[in-house]
Amino acid sequence: AEEREELTWELFGTASRDLAQAVADDGFEPDLILSIARGGLFVAGALGYALDVKNLHVMNVEFYTGVDQRLDLPVMLPPVPNVVDLTKKKVLVADDVADTGATLKLVRDFCADHVAEVRCAVVYEKPRSEVKCEYVWKHTDRWINFPWSVQAPVVRREGQVLDA
Ligand code: 5GP
Repeated sequence: AEEREELTWELFGTASRDLAQAVADDGFEPDLILSIARGGLFVAGALGYALDVKNLHVMNVEFYTGVDQRLDLPVMLPPVPNVVDLTKKKVLVADDVADTGATLKLVRDFCADHVAEVRCAVVYEKPRSEVKCEYVWKHTDRWINFPWSVQAPVVRREGQVLDA
């Protein structure tokens, strides 16, 4: 198999802390953090504590069905956040990785007409990403193993696709 980028739980602690520091050093003070489920929830939670932001929102976007297996387009799954909650806010979008960037573009465009400002923070960004994130911990062009999805689920569900 080709080389993978390996994020451990321990390294994630460092990465999320560094990412928060970059946001703070930049002087960006988000009113709310918009996480992209599910991987972005870990990042958003860590950033929320480090930046002292309690207002966390979630968007569900589905795009990947396996290693480098994608749907044609990312799709928003319900519940979709209420735009009233985002109106005129400074929003920090948090996700695990910008790969093609299509997911972040969808979220950015969703926010664009309503919010005061939207910026993106990701642990990893790949060179092909069509969205260039304001805050990136590390650039890579490899497939990344995240600690939350590297192991098979403890339950098996109908239609489930395994990572490894
Ligand atoms: P994009 O829309 O930028 O192509 O992909 C974003 C989403 O796809 C990520 O939030 C993540 O769930 C999944 N993804 C993309 N690249 C990788 C990768 O290298 N490893 C893993 N585990 N997931 C990825």
